[in-house]
Amino acid sequence: MSSLLITGAAIATVDPSGTEHATGHVQVTDGVVTAVGPGAPDPATIHPGTRVVEAGGHLLTPGLVNTHHHLYQWATRGFTPDDGLFTWLRTLYPLWARLQAEDVEAAARAGLARMALTGCTTTTDHHYLHPHGGGDHLAATIEAAATTGLRFSPTRGSMDLGQSAGGLPPDSVTETIDEVLAATADAVHRHHDPSPGSMVRIAAAPCSPFSVTTDLLRRTAEQAAELGIRRHTHLAETLDEEEFCAQAFGRRPVELLEDLGWLGPDVWLAHCVHLSDADIATLARTGSSVAHCPSSNARLGAGTARARDLMDAGVPVGIGVDGAASSEQGSLADEVRQVVYAARQRGGPEAMPVRDALRAATMGGATVLGRAGEIGSIEVGKRADLALWDLTGLGHADLDDPVVALVLGPTPPLALLTVEGRVVVEDGELRTTSEQQAVADLVAARRRLLART
Ligand SMILES: [Zn+2]
Repeated sequence: MSSLLITGAAIATVDPSGTEHATGHVQVTDGVVTAVGPGAPDPATIHPGTRVVEAGGHLLTPGLVNTHHHLYQWATRGFTPDDGLFTWLRTLYPLWARLQAEDVEAAARAGLARMALTGCTTTTDHHYLHPHGGGDHLAATIEAAATTGLRFSPTRGSMDLGQSAGGLPPDSVTETIDEVLAATADAVHRHHDPSPGSMVRIAAAPCSPFSVTTDLLRRTAEQAAELGIRRHTHLAETLDEEEFCAQAFGRRPVELLEDLGWLGPDVWLAHCVHLSDADIATLARTGSSVAHCPSSNARLGAGTARARDLMDAGVPVGIGVDGAASSEQGSLADEVRQVVYAARQRGGPEAMPVRDALRAATMGGATVLGRAGEIGSIEVGKRADLALWDLTGLGHADLDDPVVALVLGPTPPLALLTVEGRVVVEDGELRTTSEQQAVADLVAARRRLLART
């Protein structure tokens, strides 16, 4: 039996009542939270051999949950910095078409290291590039997540609408529908674990309305229902996409997805920047979820999502950093602050309380990924995915409210990050893998990629 006690910290549990303790304790046994409360624990409840972490001046929160990412993009950061989505994509597709599985593995390890060091304990990944002869990219990301120790919900992404058929991506990175369906079934068979506390859950993820056919969307929805997996795609990211859907389908993006049976409680959608009131009502009525990615939307000048309106309508909203080629920060804690700023720039000072942003980054993300019963809050019986933030330094000491210090202050160092009770980060350093090695491997992967023709 392994036991951990964190005591003396401020605690934001993010439970349904938003319970917080100015000073409290959390006990963990075999990867599960077994006690949480104010003050110190009853000494009689502490098992012999328990590791005790004295955490005065720290804030304990649930581990953050990232609901949209493209880990491979860590190898292609910094390109086309001043362009919008379609130009940015057309510039990067030819480079991405040369990716080999070993490059993806190195990029994913670097991106996941950054995730862990910024408080993330569970992340998804949307990998839709599967160049012929490029190896098993999805397995490479799963290997990287296992090495890093993060809980992982990768998606088997896809594109089947190449340039020759009116789509945006070059034909060399598209697949046939049969290839996509076979690969998705294989990925679920090999990697998907539906059990409680699972470290890997697969979802299906056609890329976007301008890079896949309606046939692929329909067939993917049918297959996902048969396999019992969730679905993900990009939607309503830019006005260019809205125009594409109007011309190609005579529909708004949300209308198109509803027509194709692509909305529901098992679906989460990245971005959703350009929504009408009717679109928001449709998402709420169907129980669909949104991955809100404000830094990427700002970087590409896509617009500001109506996060407040979505939340008020009852749409589950999580936070996503998006790929590092469109948001070079790649930091989930920084993204929480950006959620506050983006909402307030759009809707005024009351549009996004800091605690609503923290909830989106934790329980919101857990709900979006279909794991609200397991992760996202600190409650007895939930998995011990915990972030212990050190607020004793220059950026935070004596900042009045520890939750405000985390959300609006500079991103604090992590004293401890646990997944399933296992230590991933301690004293601001990765403990599962070498950050230096991840950097060296990333640099080598990028050089290989740029040299490959
Ligand atoms: Zn994306």
